[in-house]
Amino acid sequence: MGRKLISPVSPEIRRALPLVAVVSACSICLLVAAVWSLATGPPQGSTAVGALALLSSAVIAEAFPVPIEGVSAGRTSLATVFIVAAAVIYDWRIAVVVGFLTMATVEIGRRRPPVRIAFNTGAYTLAAAAAGATAGAFGEGGLLMLCIATLVVSTVFYVVNIALLGLLFSRLRDQPVLQTLRGTLVSTTVPFAIMASLAVILVGLWDRSPYLAIALIGPLVAIALYQRRQHDTLDRLRELDRLKDEFIAITSHELRTPLASVYGAAMTLQRRELAEEQRESLLGVVYRESGRLARLVDQVLWASKLERAHGTPESGSFDPIELVDDVVAAEHAHLPPTVSLTVAMDDAAPRVAADGEKVKQVLVNLIDNAVKYSTDEGAIEVSLRTVDDCVRFSVRDDGLGIPLVEQRRIFDKFHRLDPDMTRGVGGTGLGLYICKQLVDQMNGRIWVASREGEGSTFAFELPAAQA
Ligand code: ADP
Repeated sequence: MGRKLISPVSPEIRRALPLVAVVSACSICLLVAAVWSLATGPPQGSTAVGALALLSSAVIAEAFPVPIEGVSAGRTSLATVFIVAAAVIYDWRIAVVVGFLTMATVEIGRRRPPVRIAFNTGAYTLAAAAAGATAGAFGEGGLLMLCIATLVVSTVFYVVNIALLGLLFSRLRDQPVLQTLRGTLVSTTVPFAIMASLAVILVGLWDRSPYLAIALIGPLVAIALYQRRQHDTLDRLRELDRLKDEFIAITSHELRTPLASVYGAAMTLQRRELAEEQRESLLGVVYRESGRLARLVDQVLWASKLERAHGTPESGSFDPIELVDDVVAAEHAHLPPTVSLTVAMDDAAPRVAADGEKVKQVLVNLIDNAVKYSTDEGAIEVSLRTVDDCVRFSVRDDGLGIPLVEQRRIFDKFHRLDPDMTRGVGGTGLGLYICKQLVDQMNGRIWVASREGEGSTFAFELPAAQA
């Protein structure tokens, strides 16, 4: 017989459960009382229409919260503006129904966990009831009185809501209530001030004519959309700024290492009487390290060029056998003596419909990586095959290999494996990003097959030119 599975409840949630139970029980009682009271003395048609308009606005505002720059508490829902307005314009019963339905609709629509739905809905219902009761305590009066009442009602809604949230967070984080409350208050003061003033404007307009209040919808939606767009743009800019800092840090570190070697070798060559063998070895250092510097500068230039030129159609074609021969011959010139580089080619490979210079760049990057991440006696094989209407270039090594989880991310800009996994080999994390961008531009695809500790095969396919 199968055993019944009981889903585990985290200790944090278990700590918060009594509070959630009390809040949702109270809110259900209030909701039942409000619905009962509305059912026994049904409101007029115009009240029902007005309440429905406020409810729909509250649901939309809750579903599309607005980011406010500088507010760390995340996006701000403007739904409270409409719930407060329901409390001031009508009464506690309508405020309770609007508050309950708003949060329940949005949270259920977002498929939140039941505990969260219960608490958030309960908190809005209790805050709406408190707001409604406060509004009821204000008598009839002029516009000024109405504005003051709205401000006070907004404050009551905010205080009840924040106090409940503060209690919940203190339970979840197991922190003192006052400390959590202070944090929550600080991060929500600005949104509160904005919402309270919007509620005053809405109620003031509604008092003159509900139709006038509808005119507020246009600017509000425009401001909300504008704010969301601005915020997304700012987020992207911040991400770019972070990438730029990371880029400067990586490239300066990568430039410094070969520069130091070239500088050291040059100083020794200049100052000392050296044996021919030592001289040769130092010149070798200068040659290798300046080559590394040149490749690094090339990578940076390619990466910036790629960002400017996207999707240029390919017009030329080239002979892939000739290209592989050229690249491999050039690579042989600076291959470490213990590493072998062999070629396996399909002699009947057709011409490739792509830019030969770009393909060279990709192939050189892949071979350089195979050398970098190989063991001291690594064997690298470059192969060329025709597969359907495409030509496939592969570079296989028997080096360190790449864990499966990393295989997709290594094509991202600046992504590098943990230095422990690559024996501390230096690099910028730009090479494979450039390869992928170039291959994408040439309507091809690039991928890797690898096993950690056993080696990797990087391959890319490009369309064959029409005969
Ligand atoms: P770089 O080599 O400059 O760090 P790349 O974009 O060329 O940047 O490569 C990204 C990462 O992918 C490297 O840091 C390395 O961890 C991993 N990698 C690339 N090629 C190989 C390979 N042939 N074998 C093992 N790991 C590789």
